[in-house]
Amino acid sequence: MTSAAPRATDEIVDLVSRFIRFDTSNTGEPETTRGEADCARWVQQQLEEVGYKTEYIESGQPGRANVFATLPGADAGRGKLLLHAHLDVVPAQASDWSVDPFSGAVKDGYVWGRGAIDMKDMCGMALALARQFRREGTTPPRDIVFAFLADEEAGGKWGSQWLVEHRPDLFEGVTEAVGEVGGFSLTVDRPDGSSRRLYLVETAEKGLAWMKLTATANAGHGSFLHDDNAVTILAEAVAKLGRHRFPLVMTESVGQFLAAVSEETGLELRPDSPDLETALHKLGSIARIIGATLRDTANPTMLDAGYKANVIPQTATAVVDCRVLPGRQAAFEAEVDALIGPQVTREWVTKLDSYETTFDGDLVDAMNAAVLAHDPNGRTVPYMLSGGTDAKAFAKLGIRCFGFAPLQLPPDLDFAGLFHGVDERVPVDALIFGTNVLEHFLLNS
Ligand SMILES: [Zn+2]
Repeated sequence: MTSAAPRATDEIVDLVSRFIRFDTSNTGEPETTRGEADCARWVQQQLEEVGYKTEYIESGQPGRANVFATLPGADAGRGKLLLHAHLDVVPAQASDWSVDPFSGAVKDGYVWGRGAIDMKDMCGMALALARQFRREGTTPPRDIVFAFLADEEAGGKWGSQWLVEHRPDLFEGVTEAVGEVGGFSLTVDRPDGSSRRLYLVETAEKGLAWMKLTATANAGHGSFLHDDNAVTILAEAVAKLGRHRFPLVMTESVGQFLAAVSEETGLELRPDSPDLETALHKLGSIARIIGATLRDTANPTMLDAGYKANVIPQTATAVVDCRVLPGRQAAFEAEVDALIGPQVTREWVTKLDSYETTFDGDLVDAMNAAVLAHDPNGRTVPYMLSGGTDAKAFAKLGIRCFGFAPLQLPPDLDFAGLFHGVDERVPVDALIFGTNVLEHFLLNS
């Protein structure tokens, strides 16, 4: 150990800024997605510089790059802990931003740029801590596998999903994983006028299922009487589905979240309360996520039919973005079938299953202890994410997955609105806090 060597908190701001300067925009199309390989090579160099052996893996497509490195722990007999972060980001329209989205500018107490919270913040924290541990010769309680991944923003087909399918050896012995969209603070007001910082730990994710609907009927001339029109049949099915409200279903994660928030705030957030959704809005922008985890959703997003004004086409198709709660897939499909009717068929274009784990055990205790060590006014609570992350891929291997990328945020920051949003940025203080909490967690889990 060199006393002059930088610690993770010395490097974190610079590392996050440098991550952002790699434009790793994932367009969803392999031809136009870029930057992951350059970024991954740099990560590899940063890790090797302090003595790690790394593995650089392309996940099924040229340039779709992932980096893995392991820090050996004291007890090789224990299951390994996977710390994962994705290198790609969603594209940014520079003209909408008040800074260059790939500048990684540090100003007004924030690091600015695409990926600042999704999730180059966590890339930076993981890299900074990996470097510190190695420099200082730290031995954590068990093996930590650091993974920097491609293609999360397009569902992980050329990233986590590919790796799980083709390189399961990379995850051998991993029992638990920690990734994104959890660990951030939500400040709520208490009835006595004080406030409380809740740290939301992601313990569940809704399933993501993109459904293609096809109506098939008789083609014909647009001037004739024609009762059996594929466009009409499809349009009716799409309208019914789009207007349908699926039943409110209280999963364990959401139930525990609401109970904790009720306890802190005095708000009536009982599952059977008719005003539940109205009451949720008092929590601010986070209500957009929590509200979407109360029921399944099916939002029509694409329509396609016909090629000429006077020709009734034989088929018409639509795509519906379905998000399904854990345990609801069969019931959801039965409900969809009843709505779309017998003349419309459905198929899954993309289907990534939901998952849910319990908010208990040693790893959860370690998260809680780490938060409390750095924020005695904090409280960890579980919640469900309405979207998806790479955790969906790892859960398929039987790994217990959590979202825990800790950040202590200013109470008035619209954190949910920054995801894929304009002027994405992360407070410098939040990064320092997060690095300290993550260090405490990794050294005690
Ligand atoms: Zn992300």
